[in-house]
Amino acid sequence: MKAQLLAKPKSFYDIFERKGKTQPQTTHYCPGCGHGNIHKILAETLDEFGVADRTILVSPVGCSVFAYYYFDVGNIQAAHGRAPAVATGLKRANPESIVISYQGDGDLAAIGGAEIINAANRGENITVIFVNNAIYGMTGGQMAPTTLVGQRTTTSPYGRKPSNEGYPIRMCEIISTLESPVYVERTALVDFKTISRTRRAIRKAIKNQIDNKGFSFIEVLSPCPTGWKLTPVEAQRWIRDNMMSYFPVQVFKDTSEKAEPRVYEQKQYTDREVLEILGLLELEEEKEHDADFVRKFPEQILKIAGFGGQGVLTAGVILAAAAMEQDLQVSWIPSYGPEMRGGTANCSVILSNKRIGSPLATNPNVLIAMNGPSLDAFEDTVVPGGLIIVNSSIVERKVKRSDVRVMYIPLTEMASKLGLTAAANMVCIGAYLEYTKIMDYRLAFDAIRKSIKKKKYVDINLKAVEEGVRFVKENYA
Ligand code: SF4
Repeated sequence: MKAQLLAKPKSFYDIFERKGKTQPQTTHYCPGCGHGNIHKILAETLDEFGVADRTILVSPVGCSVFAYYYFDVGNIQAAHGRAPAVATGLKRANPESIVISYQGDGDLAAIGGAEIINAANRGENITVIFVNNAIYGMTGGQMAPTTLVGQRTTTSPYGRKPSNEGYPIRMCEIISTLESPVYVERTALVDFKTISRTRRAIRKAIKNQIDNKGFSFIEVLSPCPTGWKLTPVEAQRWIRDNMMSYFPVQVFKDTSEKAEPRVYEQKQYTDREVLEILGLLELEEEKEHDADFVRKFPEQILKIAGFGGQGVLTAGVILAAAAMEQDLQVSWIPSYGPEMRGGTANCSVILSNKRIGSPLATNPNVLIAMNGPSLDAFEDTVVPGGLIIVNSSIVERKVKRSDVRVMYIPLTEMASKLGLTAAANMVCIGAYLEYTKIMDYRLAFDAIRKSIKKKKYVDINLKAVEEGVRFVKENYA
C-alpha cells in the first residue's frame, strides 16, 4: 500500500527532463504546495481510466504554468485566463480527447472570468480543476478575487476590505446557478479525509467527461505556504480555520447521473458548402474562369498597343499605379517613335509580386491590341497560353493563333456609347482586371482620378472601367 502511494503515476514522466538539469525527479512547486497533491491525484486518475494517451491538459498562467513538465499527456499552454476557451476548441475539434482546464484563482476568477462562465454555460464537455489558494502565488502574493476579507497580501497589506475591494468571489456558487454544468463540487486539501474527497471529485469529473456528460467543475481549496507566509502544516490549518467557513466544501450540483451523453452537432462542410453558406459562391464561381490564367502567369507581362491618341500609354500608367496600391512590383516602359505619327504606340507593363528583372515585354503573356497594326505586330510574340484582348470595334480580323486565349471586345464602340471614344482604354482596363482579377478593378479609380487632367471626364472614365468589367462578366465568365 505504502509503495503504491509513493509510486509515480504512469501519467507522469519518469524523469522531469523539461524542468532542466536541477533535480529532475521533483516538481518546481514549493514544499507544502497543493499543486503537487492535485497533480498526483489527477495523474493517478488518468492512469486508472487509461486515458492519458488521449488527454490534453491545458495549463494556465500561474504557478502551474509548468504542468507540462510533469504530465505525460498532450499539453498546451493558454494565455492568461483563456484555458476554458482553448479547451473548448480542443474538445470540439477532438471529441474523443479528454480535455482538462487546470487553473488558479487569479487566472480563472479574475482574468478569465468571462471564459469560465461562458464555457460552463455552454456546458462544454470538459473538466475544469480550479485551484483556489486565495492569492496570486506565482507573481508574489498579490490579492486575488478569492482573497478572504481581512486577508493580508502584498497588495492588501492592511487586509482586504469589502468597502474597497469587494467580497471574495465564490466560483462554485456562481457556476452552479447555471443550467448546463452537470457537476460542481468544492473540496479542500486539509487532511486525509478532504484529500480523499478531492480524489473522488476529480475521478468523478473525469468519468463524466469520458461518458460525455458535459461540464464538470472542481474547486480545490489549496495551500500556498509561501504566499501565506506559513509552514505547510500551518497552511493546511489555515484552510480549515479560515477558508472553509467562507468557501464551504460540498457538492453544489450533480446532475451527472441523469444527464444524457452530450453530442456535439458536427458536420464536415466542403469548401463549396462553406462558400454557399457565406453567400460567396457566386464570387468564387466568377473567379473560376481566370484562376488558371493568373496561376500560370503570376507575373503579368503586358504589351498595350494602339494608335497614338488611343491612350495606350495612359492605360499602362494607370494599371501600374493601381498595382502599386496593391503592393505589387511594377514597371512601365513606353515606346515612342514613328508610331506617334500614325503607326502603333505601345508600352510594356509588368505587374509582379517579386522583383522585376527586365521591364521589357518582349514576349508578353497579355497583349492588348487596340488596332489592327498592333495585332499584326505583336500577335506572334505572345507566349503560348497567353491572353490577347482585341478591340473588335476596329480590328477586322480574328487572331490566327489557337494556343492563346482571346477576348474580342468592342472597346471603341462601348466608349462611344458613354460619350467619350477616348475612354476605350479604360474599358479595356476594366475588362483585363475583371478577367484576371489580379487586383480589384476599383483600385484603378484613384489612379484615374489623378491621371485625368480634365475633371469633367473623370466620371466617364470610371464608368468605362465598369463597362469593361460588366462586359467580361456577361461574356467571358
Ligand atoms: S507560491 Fe504558492 S501556489 Fe505557488 S508554488 Fe509556491 S506554494 Fe504553490
